[in-house]
Amino acid sequence: MKKLIVANWKMNPNSQEEAKNKFEEIREGSRGLKSEVVVCPPSVYLYASGFGEGVISMGAQNVYFEEKGAFTGEISCVMLKDLGVEYVIIGHSERRKYFLETDEIINKKIKTALQAGLKVIFCIGETAEDRNNGDKEDVLERQIKIGLDGVVSENLNIAYEPVWAIGTGDNCSVKETKESIEFIKKFLNPENRILYGGSVKSENSGSYIKEAETDGLLVGGASLDPKELIDIVKSAE
Ligand code: PEP
Repeated sequence: MKKLIVANWKMNPNSQEEAKNKFEEIREGSRGLKSEVVVCPPSVYLYASGFGEGVISMGAQNVYFEEKGAFTGEISCVMLKDLGVEYVIIGHSERRKYFLETDEIINKKIKTALQAGLKVIFCIGETAEDRNNGDKEDVLERQIKIGLDGVVSENLNIAYEPVWAIGTGDNCSVKETKESIEFIKKFLNPENRILYGGSVKSENSGSYIKEAETDGLLVGGASLDPKELIDIVKSAE
């Protein structure tokens, strides 16, 4: 199974030109490498960034569960597929927190995306409060059981992203990541890849692949620097 490295640009960069330049630099740097590299820009750049030419794949950061109609501001799976998008991130903690996405909404999105032929990167993870209260495993189990209710698919990937580690520089230790990955694995099929995300940089990325035995990485902030992202991809080879 190929390692999966996902770049989540979040709401960056500020112009089409910058997005295109970054995308091209990542594509060039990824040639000949063994891992699967997916770039998830803001949806307005999905077209501007161009297609991966078989070197890297495009991913969206979100999708709506209805097919079409009066849902102002939303984007459907059909639209993403039509643009050549292959992957979609669903359930990111920022969407759970700021856009009030529940496990039930996330479940609908995952089902719709898989039915439409998109590959899913389903994010789960506990907050600092959950962890301090000793509730980590209960939270992960709830997110998985509701999020994946009625879902079985080889196109499903899970990103374990402790919320306290996202964008903080406080990355989860390899030991704790490994334990969480082992716990999560119990609920999945062997073909579902499990990634780690949370303050990944090239200086710590290799250890998550080699020591924590993850199947890949979800990289936020560091993925906006194409050179840094390529170093992260190389560390997974
Ligand atoms: C993320 O956006 O999912 C993420 C892990 O961000 P960062 O790498 O910046 O912590």
